[in-house]
Amino acid sequence: MVSTGIRDLHEPLGWRVDAACIGEVGVTFFPPMRSEKRAAKAAREAHAKEICASCTVRDDCLDEALANGERHGIWGGLTDVERADLDLY
Ligand code: SF4
Repeated sequence: MVSTGIRDLHEPLGWRVDAACIGEVGVTFFPPMRSEKRAAKAAREAHAKEICASCTVRDDCLDEALANGERHGIWGGLTDVERADLDLY
């Protein structure tokens, strides 16, 4: 998983060692601080989802995002809006 910078560095990496997004830049999975045009957002999210589609720890990633109430970024191949639509928050 792309680091959000808030994970405890002493925490074992666990499923993250098998993440398909290792080495990817965070801007692929998270929106920029500035505004993002619709077409750019769609392209960024599509690229991230392509990476997630081949990820063997996708379920673990999504479970963690849901457990932590992650409100931003793509986790487990789902955007924040798609995770919210799961109605699990
Ligand atoms: S599902 Fe996507 S965001 Fe999550 S670890 Fe895999 S590649 Fe990274």
